[in-house]
Amino acid sequence: MILKYSCIDMASDYCPCYLAETGDCVICSILRGQNNCDCRWQGICIFQEFLWNGKKKASSRKMIKAEIVDKKIFTDNLFIFTLKLPKDVHTIYFSQAGTYVFVKSQNSPDFYEVPLCVMDFDEENNLLVFAVQLLGPKTKALFKENKNVVLRGPYYNGIFGLKYIKSSFNRNCLLVGRGIGQASLILVAKSLKRGYNKILAVLNPGSLSYNIAKEILFKEGISVKEVNDECYEEIILEDNYDLIYSAGADFQHNFIYDVIKRNNLKAELAISNNAQICCGEGVCGSCAVNLNGEKIRLCKMQLEGKKILEEGLL
Ligand SMILES: Cc1cc2nc3c(=O)[nH]c(=O)nc-3n(C[C@H](O)[C@H](O)[C@H](O)COP(=O)(O)OP(=O)(O)OC[C@H]3O[C@@H](n4cnc5c(N)ncnc54)[C@H](O)[C@@H]3O)c2cc1C
Repeated sequence: MILKYSCIDMASDYCPCYLAETGDCVICSILRGQNNCDCRWQGICIFQEFLWNGKKKASSRKMIKAEIVDKKIFTDNLFIFTLKLPKDVHTIYFSQAGTYVFVKSQNSPDFYEVPLCVMDFDEENNLLVFAVQLLGPKTKALFKENKNVVLRGPYYNGIFGLKYIKSSFNRNCLLVGRGIGQASLILVAKSLKRGYNKILAVLNPGSLSYNIAKEILFKEGISVKEVNDECYEEIILEDNYDLIYSAGADFQHNFIYDVIKRNNLKAELAISNNAQICCGEGVCGSCAVNLNGEKIRLCKMQLEGKKILEEGLL
């Protein structure tokens, strides 16, 4: 069997995980109780790691109490807050493209946890920045908190097609961010900048009436184009892009994929992960979808952006 995906946690501090203990590892067929090994060598042997670890999972993500050191209200449905992490937790683990965490106010029950992208970080002062669109019970409860929150993380599967972002070097990249989707754009831009890529960021405020990524992207020296209507096709066709990152709703992902297909463009596509995510560990099942009879846990399994859209998984 050829795997159509990889596991975002494979070979990390969190592998083997809960799914190894329950016999549901998404990569290792032996751990799933089959007789044959068919992972075709993913760089490590998760079965061996599991045995070496005394048939137990590796580390778990911790619940981290963090102080709100800044909170700005931008519109009636948008606020941005900054957290100071405790001394023994370092922002570096929260700084790669696609990182998200679960956040809740300090006194809320665990089911109030909201998955939020890390929008930006300040390594020197150990700060993380988040932008929140107020929608329903969880985001409203978080908005009321002014002192401390509890976060659980880091989780890394906030973007599909991550390999194109991480491996891009000296290429021509277009970032399209709409509404709160822009929260995931800054870590992508910083990662691409480290690879000496040429970057244009197209920002559309969507229902937020405010481009949250604009100021930070300017500071990073990244070209920004602000748009109000859906003129993406024109912009995509204006240049020869090697990589397009779509941060926004599923309809935007699908529109951009359609432009790439219709015009036979060479551009690779990465997209923000818009699944309903609750545990982030592949356990609760809220993000599970069916791919030709196979259960795909979208919080855990890393697929290509084009594959996700082709198969209608979002
Ligand atoms: C990886 C990831 C990163 C995200 N990053 C951000 C961010 O940086 N800023 C931000 O404002 N929002 C972000 N979201 C979306 C945010 O988690 C939801 O808007 C929030 O959970 C809504 O909860 P609610 O109770 O306020 O609203 P509800 O009324 O419960 O839901 C409103 C909408 O949010 C969606 N939603 C509800 N619960 C979840 C969930 N557990 N996972 C995903 N979608 C959900 C619902 O489908 C619905 O469309 C992210 C989602 C994911 C999956």
